[in-house]
Amino acid sequence: MRRRRMIWKIFPSFLLVTILTIAGVMLYVDHEFRRFYSARTIEALTARARLFEGCLEHGDAGSDRSRIDALCKELGARTATRITVIRPDGVVVGDTDHDPATMDNHSDRPEVREALRGEVGSQLRRSDTLDQNMMYVAVPLRSKGSDVAVIRTAISLGSFESTLRVIHSRVVLGGVLALTVAGVLCWLVARRITRPLEELRRGVAQFGRGGLDQRLRVPDSDEIGAVAQAMNEMAASLDARLKTIGEQRHEMEAVFDAMAEGVLVVDLDERVLHLNRSAEKILGVTLAFAKKRFVQEVARNPDLQSFVRSTLASDAPVEGDVAWRAGEERHFQARGTSLRNASGVKTGSLIVLNEVTRLYRLERVRRDFVANVSHEMQTPITSIYGYAETLMDKDSRTDELTEKAAQAIVRQAGRLSLLVDDLLELSRIEKQAEAKEIPLSRGSIREVLESAIETCGTASEDRGVPIRLECPEDIQADINPELLERALVNLLDNATKYSERGKQVDLSCEATPGEVIIRVRDEGCGGAREHLPRLFERFYRVDKARSRSLGGTGLGLAIVKHIVLAHRGTVAVESEVGKGSLFTIVVPRSSGGN
Ligand code: ADP
Repeated sequence: MRRRRMIWKIFPSFLLVTILTIAGVMLYVDHEFRRFYSARTIEALTARARLFEGCLEHGDAGSDRSRIDALCKELGARTATRITVIRPDGVVVGDTDHDPATMDNHSDRPEVREALRGEVGSQLRRSDTLDQNMMYVAVPLRSKGSDVAVIRTAISLGSFESTLRVIHSRVVLGGVLALTVAGVLCWLVARRITRPLEELRRGVAQFGRGGLDQRLRVPDSDEIGAVAQAMNEMAASLDARLKTIGEQRHEMEAVFDAMAEGVLVVDLDERVLHLNRSAEKILGVTLAFAKKRFVQEVARNPDLQSFVRSTLASDAPVEGDVAWRAGEERHFQARGTSLRNASGVKTGSLIVLNEVTRLYRLERVRRDFVANVSHEMQTPITSIYGYAETLMDKDSRTDELTEKAAQAIVRQAGRLSLLVDDLLELSRIEKQAEAKEIPLSRGSIREVLESAIETCGTASEDRGVPIRLECPEDIQADINPELLERALVNLLDNATKYSERGKQVDLSCEATPGEVIIRVRDEGCGGAREHLPRLFERFYRVDKARSRSLGGTGLGLAIVKHIVLAHRGTVAVESEVGKGSLFTIVVPRSSGGN
């Protein structure tokens, strides 16, 4: 509904009151003026009639008609009054304006009838003869107690009417002037009343648009001033409260965004209301995009979608697992709680996603490890079991068979022992590294390298793959010589193991100001690119049968990796099938550096 401005409500009322007052004054003046003028006219006409009466001689009325008529004409013309003499029977005997003979009987005229009753009669009416408003006064003329005639005097009210019109037009003019002045005054007064209200309205509208730091001007009028003052106080308190709420909200958002867990808020229609930074990263969308969209649009993950549905359906907190399988596999533990408004009505759900990918992977590694160890042990144990049974069978036991079974048992027991040794070694290094118990001390790298070559010497000679060393004398670094040697022995052993007779292995070392770089290069079988990232995993082997036949346990490179990590270094491999491999260890020279 369109609202009218207050000034348009006040102003017309003022105007109406003014117009009514002026109209009332005009009517009153008109009425009083007419009354006054009529009374005066009647008095004057009565006096003129009495004077005329004095001019008549008694008994004239009935006898000398022509004299009376002439007298009427003469005195009437002199006094600008129409004088008519009427006999009691109504016959006109003299008249200023007309020939009495042509005039009709006047006994029916109201003023005449009154005069015939012995009173002064008067009437204001329109004269048909003159076509003007006339005032008539009729006075009885009596002689010896009986009516002789009626003298009627009349004047035209034309001049009075025109005077009245002039007065009317002046009053109207004055009225219009008064109205104009009153209108202007009304307008000014109305504006004076409404302007502070209008200012108040604009100020409050400004508050509504959030401009709560502005203040209303307090006018000097008591009531409006008090309202403005109250509004200002209200705005100040609202402003303070909003600021507090804003600060609390920012704190909440900061906490939300700092959380490592992903937080997702949805309404009952499964539309996203809020996401924190972590949730943005997990879902790969921004809050701006996700807001008001359905969860199905924002996260194309069936686990999450069904979890959201189940939290919305339940009043109790819900827990579940959510996995992302597209791309890099990620696992989350999800917890959902209902959101309620101030009246306790459910309005949506809050879902917290806690990433457990690392735990999940560790758990899988542990499971795989147990399975791998069992699997690795199963073959030698089965084999030992079979040969032992053969030995126990006295009937088929021959010296040759006994010899063969004993050798096999020793070989398989050796494999088991190697496996257990490697496992124990690995777990010892891991445990010590975790407890930071591996001591590092400044030592010569060349000495470690030479010692490793010596350890592998026999095997290298047996395999016909010599090892060549290239290392400056003076390279020193913070190392654990036994462990570093063990790592190099593993690499050199592999290098000679996976090379054909007649090939060569190069062990070299160089130093940068901060690091020592040790390289083991061979010209052996190499490995395909897809295997390389996994070579350092426990039990990972490119060719299981070949590794086993060469006495490998599949743990050598895993041990290397853990030793290098204990030195806070890195190990990498480059390889090409048929051309050879290059293993590079980089360790910091000082245990204080990186
Ligand atoms: P293994 O006891 O089987 O040698 P490792 O952990 O030492 O176990 O090595 C893991 C796998 O990496 C090996 O089975 C082999 O397939 C591959 N490998 C390691 N070193 C080399 C190398 N120098 N040349 C080619 N392949 C290698």
